[in-house]
Amino acid sequence: MREEYRTECETNVVENPWTGHRIVIDVTETTHYVEGEALRSYTTRIQGARRCACLKPPAGFCAECDMLSCVDCYGRCAECAKPLCSKCGRTQKSRSGETIRLCSECYGDAARKRLLRGLLKPFVEFQE
Ligand SMILES: [Zn+2]
Ligand SMILES: [Zn+2]
Ligand SMILES: [Zn+2]
Repeated sequence: MREEYRTECETNVVENPWTGHRIVIDVTETTHYVEGEALRSYTTRIQGARRCACLKPPAGFCAECDMLSCVDCYGRCAECAKPLCSKCGRTQKSRSGETIRLCSECYGDAARKRLLRGLLKPFVEFQE
């Protein structure tokens, strides 16, 4: 015969800074019950997946799609420091050869510059 007499529920919530939406990221449920003469408890911890489907701790919200990203997927635009998820960030090789992440605006700017440079190349010598 088992009688539950108390349940505790603890939720861990983060709030999206732009929309104000709250997202439950973790739920901890503890149930205390009596079994015979003994008082027992069990705790279940449900870790919500990030919208990127990772189980890593959340790191921040993407400014373009509002997605909550984990520490692995979250990053900032190398030009304007806008927070980005892995889906919205466009990766590009920087001049020094490292892979950088750019937001759609900065990526668009970079693409335009490249295009312009390509068009003008036969006529203008660019100094890097
Ligand atoms: Zn995004
Ligand atoms: Zn992730
Ligand atoms: Zn940017």
